[in-house]
Amino acid sequence: MGEVDKVVIVVFDGLRPDMIAGRMPTLAAFLGDNLWFGNARSVFPSLTRVCSASVSTGAWPGRHGIVNNEFHLNGDLGGPVVDTAGLDHLVALAERTGAIVTADSLGQRLAAAGRSMMAIHCGSAGSGLLVNHAVRDVGQRTFSIHGAEATLTPEIVAEVLATCGPLPAQDVPKLDVVAYTGRVATEVALAQDQADVTLVWLPEPDTSFHFCGIHSEGANQAMAAADAAFAEILGAVADGAHGSHTAVIAMSDHGQIATSALIDLTGLLRADGFRAGEAPGGDTDILITGGNMGELRPIAPDRGLIADLGHWLMQQGEIGMVFADPEMVAGALPLSAVHQTHVRSAPISYVMRSDGTPGPGGIPGIGVYTGGVPLGGGMHGGLNRYEMNITLGVGTPAGRRGEIDDAPASLIDIAPTVLSLFGMDGDTDGRVLPLFEPDAETARTTTLRAASGGFEQQLVRASIAGRDYLIEGGRV
Ligand SMILES: [Zn+2]
Repeated sequence: MGEVDKVVIVVFDGLRPDMIAGRMPTLAAFLGDNLWFGNARSVFPSLTRVCSASVSTGAWPGRHGIVNNEFHLNGDLGGPVVDTAGLDHLVALAERTGAIVTADSLGQRLAAAGRSMMAIHCGSAGSGLLVNHAVRDVGQRTFSIHGAEATLTPEIVAEVLATCGPLPAQDVPKLDVVAYTGRVATEVALAQDQADVTLVWLPEPDTSFHFCGIHSEGANQAMAAADAAFAEILGAVADGAHGSHTAVIAMSDHGQIATSALIDLTGLLRADGFRAGEAPGGDTDILITGGNMGELRPIAPDRGLIADLGHWLMQQGEIGMVFADPEMVAGALPLSAVHQTHVRSAPISYVMRSDGTPGPGGIPGIGVYTGGVPLGGGMHGGLNRYEMNITLGVGTPAGRRGEIDDAPASLIDIAPTVLSLFGMDGDTDGRVLPLFEPDAETARTTTLRAASGGFEQQLVRASIAGRDYLIEGGRV
């Protein structure tokens, strides 16, 4: 038997690492006792379904193809938007393009070596699918808190219902969902027939950050509940047959910032003569998505229109960043700089303006947005450091302990690191995290800048071991 024979991954959706101290004592102690990657980052856009696919595949969106939570499909821009929250949309995506995800998942790679994986997923059905998109084909299991209709492996839902009772209500903050998730983990997933990799995805504190506010009492309750569930999971691991041979990864997928002003970007575009809309039809000739960031896709290919849109965006005080082909749009940063090089990627995307100003409760990080949550609620998707900085701690038998490592790390490193713990390697965009010895080299930080007229933006990246990581970006 090797040093590690089981891996347990617990994801706290949306958890900013600077919110842990004083609110999540078990997680704080875990991070302090083990190896904490203090400079770990999300991907772009910093949105859950994009992140889920990056965790699963070890790839950037440019390779896995889930380029946004919601995106219009190049080549079929007259067709429906792909809303990745919905299982039906993802199944339809496979029919429309031949694949949901265009890179192999951790589940597939494990299955090829005869290893198992189980996911307990408590976010949207779509996110649940994206943590292991081939789950049915490879004979693994994904439980969804939304029931049998929300997973490709419905038989596990019946098993959970028999052990843990009826599914909980989805009240916000999702205290009941979090408590139930802890029970599914400890009473089903870790109790018998434990998979080689168990992934537990908690929906909090993301939901309460969004709808109650990052600073709110509801968010504090959600973090306390998530911490209690984590304590139960750690207890079950320690008491289980594999306790001393289990690696535990505690992480989040992205952070959040507080929304400070709601901007009607579509209305502003229309007022200036651009026929933008969220769906094809009527006079719309530019498809747009929104939030803290979004995409613009002219329905008919039009380099001139893309240039005009880029120029217009840079004249708006509410816009923070613009990504497009710089040969087409002067002042834009290239899409390749944020790994958005997929055939599904939009020709132009924007990030709303944000900074590190203290928001409600004195918590740093605020930005303007185009909708999705109540004003003052938390949001994410952009490249603000408080959206990008993720929680990432690893406890490995015989691994580094009691250390904070400031080397860059990201969601793309999870799959190759898990594989390495089983003595396997995989062709991913990420690297095997330095769990046993610190990196021999130091990371190199580079800042890309681009400007046009009065608009100037920058993107900070870091590279180590031949990998490039996104650190933060914004308007200068
Ligand atoms: Zn969210």
